[in-house]
Amino acid sequence: MKVLVTGGAGYIGSHTCIQLIKHGHTPVVIDNLCNSKAVVLDRIECVTGTRPAFMQGDVRDSSFLKRVFATHAVDSVIHFAGLKAVGESVEKPLKYYDTNVSGTLNLVREMQAANINSLIFSSSATVYGEPASVPIQEDFPTAATNPYGRSKLMAEECLRDFQHANPDWSITLLRYFNPVGAHDSGLLGEDPQGTPNNLLPFVAQVAVGRREKLGVFGNDYPTPDGTGVRDYIHVVDLADGHLAALDKLAYQAGIHVFNLGTGQGHSVLDMLHAFEAVAKRPIPYEIKPRRAGDIAECYADPACAKATLGWSAKKDLQTMVEDTWRWQSKNPNGYGG
Ligand code: NAD
Ligand code: UDP
Repeated sequence: MKVLVTGGAGYIGSHTCIQLIKHGHTPVVIDNLCNSKAVVLDRIECVTGTRPAFMQGDVRDSSFLKRVFATHAVDSVIHFAGLKAVGESVEKPLKYYDTNVSGTLNLVREMQAANINSLIFSSSATVYGEPASVPIQEDFPTAATNPYGRSKLMAEECLRDFQHANPDWSITLLRYFNPVGAHDSGLLGEDPQGTPNNLLPFVAQVAVGRREKLGVFGNDYPTPDGTGVRDYIHVVDLADGHLAALDKLAYQAGIHVFNLGTGQGHSVLDMLHAFEAVAKRPIPYEIKPRRAGDIAECYADPACAKATLGWSAKKDLQTMVEDTWRWQSKNPNGYGG
C-alpha cells in the first residue's frame, strides 16, 4: 500500500516508516520539521535501503495537502503530525488546538476531496484522564485533564462524528501508552528539543552526562514503591501496531479504537534501576514533589488489539532500555550532533 505518513520525520513516524518499508509498503512522508530534522530521512534510507518520498509542509495548509495528494496516489493515511508537550499545551492552548484539532480536520477535508477514506490517527492514553481502575479498557470513560489531552479527545470525537456521517470511511484511533526505546541499529531514536518532559529521555541524558540528575516526581503514590507506574512500550512494537491496523482495517469501514500498550506497569524507580544496569553507571536522582496533573498508575488492557489486530507487544523492558541507551550513547546530542 502507498501510505501517507504525516509527521513521518518524528519519533514514532520514522520508526513506522521503517516497518512499513520492511513489510513492502511505500511510505510518503510529510512533515513541517517543527520538531524533527530532515536527516531522519537519511537514517531511514540507511536502515532500509529505501528513501521515502518527502514533502515539507504543514497539515494545516490546504494548498500544500492538495499538492501532496495530486503528486502521490496514496491508499491510506497515518496521521502522526501533532504537538505533544503537556506543559506547553497549558501555556499555549490555541497552538495545540490549532495543530492537533484543526490540522486533523484539514487533513480529513483534503483526503475527502482526494477520494481517500482510510485513516489511522495517533491518539493517547491521556484521553482516559484519571482512570477509576487499571488495566484500562477501550470503553472506559474519557476525560482529559490538560489542553494536549483535550486536543486528542476533541480530534477523536470529530473523527467519530465524521465517520458516522461518512460510513464508508475506515478510521482507526490508536491510543498509545508510553512509547520508549529506539531502533536497534542505534541510528534512530527520540530526540527531544530542550529539556525532556518524558522520563526515559531524561534518564538517558543523565546517563550520558548531559544532565546532572533526575527529579523523581513524587514517591508517595499508592504504588508498590510510591513512584508513578506507566505502561512503557517499545516504539518498534508501537510501529508494528500501525502495520497490523493497516493490514486488518484499512479497507474495513467503521470507527475502530485500540489501546497500544504492553499491559505491564513499571514504576519510575524500576525504569531508573533498569537503566543503571544497562548503562553500567549510577543515575543520580532526587525525590521532588508530584508533578501537577500526574496520575498514580496507568496501564493498558491490550486484549482488544490482540483479538482484532493479532498484534501484541513483543519487546521487554530490558530491550527498551538497551535500545534507548544504544541510541543515546551513539548520538549524545541526538540528530544534531
Ligand atoms: P514527534 O514530535 O517526534 O513527531 C511529530 C512530528 O509531526 C514531528 O516531526 C513534527 O515536526 C511534525 N509536525 C508537528 N506539527 C506539524 C504540522 N502542523 N504539520 C506537519 N508536521 C507537523 O512526536 P511523536 O512522539 O512521534 O508523536 C507522534 C504522534 O503521536 C503525535 O500526534 C503525538 O501526540 C502522539 N502521541 C505521542 C506519544 C509520545 O509519548 N511520544 C504518546 C501518545 C500519543
Ligand atoms: N517522571 C519523573 N521525572 C521526570 C519525568 C517523568 O519522575 O523527569 C515520572 C512521571 O511523574 C510519571 C512517569 O515518570 O510517573 C512517566 O512520565 P512521562 O512524562 O514520561 O509520561 P506520562 O506522564 O505522560 O505518562
